[in-house]
Amino acid sequence: MDWTYAPAPENAAIANLQPTYRPFIDGEFVDGGGEPLKTINPATEEVLAEVGTASPADVERATAAARRAYTKVWGPMSGAERAKYIYRIARIMAERSRELAVLETLDNGKPIRESRDVDIPTASAHLFHHAGWADKLEYAGLGPAPKPVGVVGAVIPWNFPLLMAAWKVAPALACGNTIVLKPAETTPLTALVLAEIAAEAGLPPGVLNVLPGAGETGAAVVGAEVDKVAFTGSTDVGREIQRRLAGTGRRLTLELGGKAANVVYADAALDQAVDGVVDGIFFNQGHVCCAGSRLLVQESIAEEFAELLHARIETLRVGDPLDKNTDVGAINSRAQLDRIVDLAAAGDAEGAQRWTSSCPLPERGLFFPPTVFDGVEQTMRIAREEIFGPVLSVLTFRTPEEAVAKANNTPYGLSAGVWTEKGAKALWTAQRLRAGVVWTNTFNRFDPASPFGGYRESGFGREGGRAGLAAYLNA
Ligand code: NAD
Ligand code: MN
Repeated sequence: MDWTYAPAPENAAIANLQPTYRPFIDGEFVDGGGEPLKTINPATEEVLAEVGTASPADVERATAAARRAYTKVWGPMSGAERAKYIYRIARIMAERSRELAVLETLDNGKPIRESRDVDIPTASAHLFHHAGWADKLEYAGLGPAPKPVGVVGAVIPWNFPLLMAAWKVAPALACGNTIVLKPAETTPLTALVLAEIAAEAGLPPGVLNVLPGAGETGAAVVGAEVDKVAFTGSTDVGREIQRRLAGTGRRLTLELGGKAANVVYADAALDQAVDGVVDGIFFNQGHVCCAGSRLLVQESIAEEFAELLHARIETLRVGDPLDKNTDVGAINSRAQLDRIVDLAAAGDAEGAQRWTSSCPLPERGLFFPPTVFDGVEQTMRIAREEIFGPVLSVLTFRTPEEAVAKANNTPYGLSAGVWTEKGAKALWTAQRLRAGVVWTNTFNRFDPASPFGGYRESGFGREGGRAGLAAYLNA
């Protein structure tokens, strides 16, 4: 009997894709003065839409609009009033979730199952959560009368386009700030629909501005008259932004890369651990800053675990992101695919053993098969550098001390995972792992009430929870 799935594609028309999109400044969609960009569908490499970009003059105009809105309308407004707008945006986002999910999948390449079940619901949950805070900030434990910071300049990456927008917009608005948001150049579309939703919700002009563009536009936002910069992206750009803001008195939070260790002890529930490891690295094609990209497995079970892992990965379906049965979608851009190919080649050259899933890849589009490198040493590039793709590096350890030493042997410190049936061992390990988030017997869990962020080259500042509010308030 043939057990293969029939194709089950979601209807692309639901995305309500427009041929052109434009920047959103001071409550209106306007022609940007920058060179328009074309955003592609990475599953086909076909152009989806032409998107107007913001010139430096547009960035100035947007920042001035945000300043006006802050001083005249949004700053003075009561928290209870602000909350109504944020709730409205969250509700409309939830109502339009199917459209947003399909649009996100088209523009980014991620499987529809993920955009539908994770990205969009988590984005609206973030807005709902923060709407609830808007009139309770005095009770957040950040002092009796916390004040907004002012105008926020936010620059976000392409891996979770709408979710990262929500992570910036929700706390900024709840705390009484206004915002100038620059989405990533390969995934600008859902942020522009968010702008449309904000307008539909009656958000006063200037409170939210969305400026598509590439790195130069991001640099202009960072250099504009803003009071705080919130950046998520690569460590290199984060470093440059920190240098530029040094001495200006402007506040900064950075959410950068990671090279998380997923530590599996011999006493772990192995089938559960296998699923967690698979989710940790293949979720969103591995384009996840907190991806569990280094598996540290105890030596006594390493062989058995490798077999279970390979067998499980063989069941992953790589293909059309719009297909509801797809587990691993398209790599977001040609540049990112090249980077993954190069780093995997470095793994071969340095002597690690490459294992590749035998799943068929689509004939066109940007795809990379689920890949595991066994026999990885700590000095190898694939153990040190963020690959940001569906590639897992496997290292082994003998004792808990060795596991912790290897896990912490990284310039990053964003997330980590521990798998064991022993509660005391889980706590012992979690206390010693130098990472902002440590998951035990699970991975990639997110909640708006729970702070997320890193140490060292993974950045600083927290998003979510009370710690996340602190980043948008002068307490
Ligand atoms: P990037 O840092 O170049 O881009 C992120 C955002 O910053 C984009 O909106 C981009 O336009 C903007 N930007 C670029 N140069 C800028 C500048 N000089 N000033 C201000 N803004 C600027 O990241 P990328 O090229 O998209 O990805 C490269 C690597 O970054 C990935 O391989 C991965 O390691 C890492 N990354 C991390 C995350 C994360 O969630 N932490 C997300 C995406 C990428
Ligand atoms: Mn795109």
